Amino acid sequence: MITTPLSLFDTRTRTLSAVTISDEKAVRIYSCGPTVYRDAHVGNLRTFLLSDLIIRTLTFAGFKSSLIQNITDVGHMSEDLHEDKMLTESAKRNLDPFAIAREYEDRFHKDLGLIGIRPATAYPRASESIELMQELIGKLIAQGNAYVGEDFSVYFAAQSFPSYGEISGNRLDALQPGHRYEYTDDGAKRFHADWALWKAAGNRTQMVWDSPWGPGFPGWHIECSAMSLHFLAGHVDLHLGGIDLRFPHHENERAQSNAAAGYEVVAHWIHGEHLLFEGRKMSKSAGNVVLVSDIAARGLDPLALRLTFLENRYRSQIDLTWDALTAADATITRWRKKLKDWGPSTPTDESAAIIRSLSATLMNDLATAELAIELRRIERDESIAPGVRAEIFRAFDQIFALELDRADVEVTLTPEQSNLLAQRATARANKDYGRSDELRDQLLALKIAVKDGPTGQSYEVIS
Ligand code: AMP
Ligand code: ZN
Repeated sequence: MITTPLSLFDTRTRTLSAVTISDEKAVRIYSCGPTVYRDAHVGNLRTFLLSDLIIRTLTFAGFKSSLIQNITDVGHMSEDLHEDKMLTESAKRNLDPFAIAREYEDRFHKDLGLIGIRPATAYPRASESIELMQELIGKLIAQGNAYVGEDFSVYFAAQSFPSYGEISGNRLDALQPGHRYEYTDDGAKRFHADWALWKAAGNRTQMVWDSPWGPGFPGWHIECSAMSLHFLAGHVDLHLGGIDLRFPHHENERAQSNAAAGYEVVAHWIHGEHLLFEGRKMSKSAGNVVLVSDIAARGLDPLALRLTFLENRYRSQIDLTWDALTAADATITRWRKKLKDWGPSTPTDESAAIIRSLSATLMNDLATAELAIELRRIERDESIAPGVRAEIFRAFDQIFALELDRADVEVTLTPEQSNLLAQRATARANKDYGRSDELRDQLLALKIAVKDGPTGQSYEVIS
């Protein structure tokens, strides 16, 4: 077993502990993926960014990793309606559920790319892993951890797993019957905290598969056990997800995986805190969703979202605002310009020492927020030679991934800015200097500095 210098907060043991590589080859990471019935909102993306930050940090420190992220395209029941999220959307749009799934899966990958998240090693789909799940369910039944209910659904017997509750603190003896922690509350379960591994089809006709227990479809929790055990060869060094997944999703996954394997399958459970917007957790049901496309539509670089996330620790809540995104956008533009002005990197003993010390800061529970503060300090520190500053910024842009060396600093203007620029060009062509000056002031208020030269007007975005 290899111990890496990165330590993270493990939800189950409630301690900060070093990330380890159990097979001595690569850190094996599993991250709960999207349910592809709608666009991922930027809250989801904050959680999806966590694996990218961890992997980039490990790579920076010289370690390899592999990442599996599942695509849930079947079996995720909504808590309020007790309906499959995919099928509800399919009925609403009168479209084949698989067509919807592929559409949003595609958009999920595009969104990840826009905020600099590198692709995972593999993205297995639930609908293509039915056999894997059935094998695992069969094993759990054979071992006495699961049973076929009178309704032909298969349930996990929660009481067969004595250490249930270690991640969330929700112990079985404290869970009250009637508490809605699982979508099925019918009478086929033997114990109120049991949950469905396989759901009998009943009247359902779409997304149904044959099984040894009759036609049906898999539960959501078994998907992550089956995929992590299979694709990461029986051991997960880091398991990631949003904090809301601690219970029941991860608690149930742990019970299923450990019961099947006979040992603790996941070494570390890491949870990212929520993104809020206007003071409330961002979610479709709260109606406060922001998409990456909304950020681009305001003329902001989607990487401004990435920097906003980096300026907070993954374990702290963030209340996102447009002002914060605008400020982050300006910072990125300024850093790109600075890097051009500073010229080529000049590695020296001084830059190596600063990089070493900042990387030690970062390794302590992925302290991206502290690192961002330090980078801002170094940016202003005239006692450090420009080439040395450039070297430091380029080093950490391997993790921050803000494309600070983007060859041509592109500027995306808002429709309002473009419109005013066009109006001013026309005013000047018409020799309407009063109007042209007025428009210049309006543009300045929008952070566009207009200059007039022999070839016409040009502009610069100021920060
Ligand atoms: P879903 O597609 O709903 O299954 O969610 C995908 C991931 O996004 C899960 O890991 C959730 O924990 C996470 N998530 C959902 N809402 C938020 C939020 N507001 N902030 C951060 N993560 C979230
Ligand atoms: Zn999961």
